[in-house]
Amino acid sequence: MREEVDIHIRNVLTLNPANGAVLKEVDITVKDGKIKEVSRGIKVDAAEVIDGSGKIAIPGFVDAHTHVFQIMLRGALSMKELQVHPIWLRVLIPFEAELTREEAEISAELACLNMIRKGIVSFAEAGGPYPDIEAEAARSVGLRARVTHSTMDAGPENYVRTASMNRELVRKYASGLVRGYYSIRQLMTSTDFQLDETFRFAREDDALVTMHINEEVSEIQHALARWGMRPIEFLHSKGYLCSRLLAAHCAFLSRSEIEILSKCGVNVVHCPTIAMLYMNFPRIPELLSRGVNVALGSDGGSYRPLDIFTEINIMVSGLTGYYGAPYHDHSVLSPVTALKMATFNGAKALGDDAGEIREGALADITIVDARKPHLTPLHDSWLLPLFATGSDVTDLIVDGKLIMRKGEVMTLDEDSVVSRAREIAPQIREKIVKLLRTSH
Ligand SMILES: [Zn+2]
Repeated sequence: MREEVDIHIRNVLTLNPANGAVLKEVDITVKDGKIKEVSRGIKVDAAEVIDGSGKIAIPGFVDAHTHVFQIMLRGALSMKELQVHPIWLRVLIPFEAELTREEAEISAELACLNMIRKGIVSFAEAGGPYPDIEAEAARSVGLRARVTHSTMDAGPENYVRTASMNRELVRKYASGLVRGYYSIRQLMTSTDFQLDETFRFAREDDALVTMHINEEVSEIQHALARWGMRPIEFLHSKGYLCSRLLAAHCAFLSRSEIEILSKCGVNVVHCPTIAMLYMNFPRIPELLSRGVNVALGSDGGSYRPLDIFTEINIMVSGLTGYYGAPYHDHSVLSPVTALKMATFNGAKALGDDAGEIREGALADITIVDARKPHLTPLHDSWLLPLFATGSDVTDLIVDGKLIMRKGEVMTLDEDSVVSRAREIAPQIREKIVKLLRTSH
């Protein structure tokens, strides 16, 4: 009798950016949530068989910084309206707070649907108004997720969310696909007490923390005025920095801050589109060369189509343009490194044994159809991220389960989610118009 497995992907090309390996015409088997075997001509019985001919299997994308509840803002803010400052405090947070539970449920399902379609297997919420809704949505569709409150205690009174509230989440979602974790929305909206408690709880619970950090010049000035130190220097002086931290943006770093991040093993999350819109060109090549684990984030689906391939493209072109082109140097950031950032580095930041096509790793796999006209020919497969978009993803495996098969999402009623989102779009639009009217 032949061995039984859950999924058998046959005759596929695999890219494993963690070690730079390309394997042609191999089979991948999946059993009990893990990759069982990667080799040629495997003979097994499988509940699901995927024909990988003409397809490319990569480790599933990890969106290490997103805002699930901002997805209904999609297409609402003009380039001029993006100038409202600071947009996160005057538009984004008030918008999230205005969502009803029903609107939040639809937003969460819509965001999950987008992620599945674009090959994202795992996401880290930066802080939202309804983490319970987000957790249930992720769990029911089968995505990996980290959820947290939009934590602040020094901002507008009606948005107060505390470390204790996150502790409840960390305890409620302690294991499995969906986990709770700690967060700080921003230093500027946190008291010293909140910062202390968050990092103490995270240490005691051995849980992760995410925060927006060094994302704008006014924040650096705030830290200098408040503590006489730059943000990263301050966090270091308090002993908060370690590998449990996901530091999003890190766009305005001094040399000494880069040194500190490297020494403390902090995970940095680069969000290319939002960096281009607001933060210029973060010193990502320098961080990488100092050994910092830099992951990739979308920063939500409101600015761009929540597509990691697109984010990679923007990152490679933008950083090459800024750090390489003036010196005719095109080795600033290779597509292999970019793909590694979007997969392995993200999984590492979240503490998951994933992000690799490797025997024994968690079975999170994104499969792309390379027979599309815009991917033909693709002489060097590593250049895939520069030509593909998320819409080329046909199959998605998360935790050993097939949740999209031949372009059909299996864990969600796609038509129903889209039509409900379209139904609430006018009322959402009204909220945004009202917010923009009062934000300046
Ligand atoms: Zn963010």
